[in-house]
Amino acid sequence: MTGRVAGKVALVTGGGSGIGRASSLTLAREGATVVVTDLNGDSAAETVSLVLQAGGKARSMAHDTTDETVWQAVVASIRATEKRLDIVLNNAGVSGGGKLLKDTSLEDWRFVNGANVEGVYMGTKYGIELMEEAGNGGSIINISSIYGKVGAVGSVSYNASKGAVCVMSKGAALECGQAGNGVRVNTIHPGFIFTGMTEGRLQRNDFRDWALKRTPIGRIGEAQDIANGVLYLASDESSFVTGTELVIDGGFLAI
Ligand code: NAP
Repeated sequence: MTGRVAGKVALVTGGGSGIGRASSLTLAREGATVVVTDLNGDSAAETVSLVLQAGGKARSMAHDTTDETVWQAVVASIRATEKRLDIVLNNAGVSGGGKLLKDTSLEDWRFVNGANVEGVYMGTKYGIELMEEAGNGGSIINISSIYGKVGAVGSVSYNASKGAVCVMSKGAALECGQAGNGVRVNTIHPGFIFTGMTEGRLQRNDFRDWALKRTPIGRIGEAQDIANGVLYLASDESSFVTGTELVIDGGFLAI
């Protein structure tokens, strides 16, 4: 088998669309077997069809990443079926809808932080557990955001959640180093990427023009731009990389 992640088994959450779908296709193209999960089991199954059509290996599961019982079922399924896990892409997330802090309820806050922090916390914890059992090391990739590093108006819950993902991942990387289990944990910080999460805003001329002006490279990103970073962190090419932040933002944070 050839490819940059040949022979590895990957779990991709939120794999039914956007960055998760592009990453599933990319990892499969490069030789991984991909377990694609999503809140919406049908969209995860569609991603799997695309992988199979392209000659790759994948299967899907419906998976609400905020539910620990479902996480345990996903882990049990991988333990029984693939019998190893090398890559976890904790990608599932929500945007929070752009409410100002003064208009945000505790319920809104918990919805965003439940999906974006608790889901990633469980994916990191259970991912490491399975990787340790298999004994081959592994790579956990947690999707944060440029807004896990700087603030944005109307994004307080999202800012908190993505900042938490970033520093939580560093703590997990240190614990893996201390345990000597060969597991690496890193974050990716996308800038503006055209996906279902952003298309409403990016179709508005005022917002798109602002985002373009704010992005030195002069275009809105594609899901594939992030999938390319996922592939690097998933592969052994990044074997000396842990506890770090891969910013893929067309230069947004350089300003
Ligand atoms: P997307 O197309 O909306 O993908 C997000 C996926 O996550 C959807 O398939 C969604 O399912 C799924 N999901 C949401 N809550 C879930 C849960 N509790 N359990 C399982 N799956 C869940 O958006 P995307 O842009 O690809 O987002 C992927 C990640 O990138 C997110 O973490 C996002 O915060 C991050 N990000 C995106 C951008 C950007 O500009 N697009 C920038 C920075 C960071 P449903 O569609 O069924 O709800």
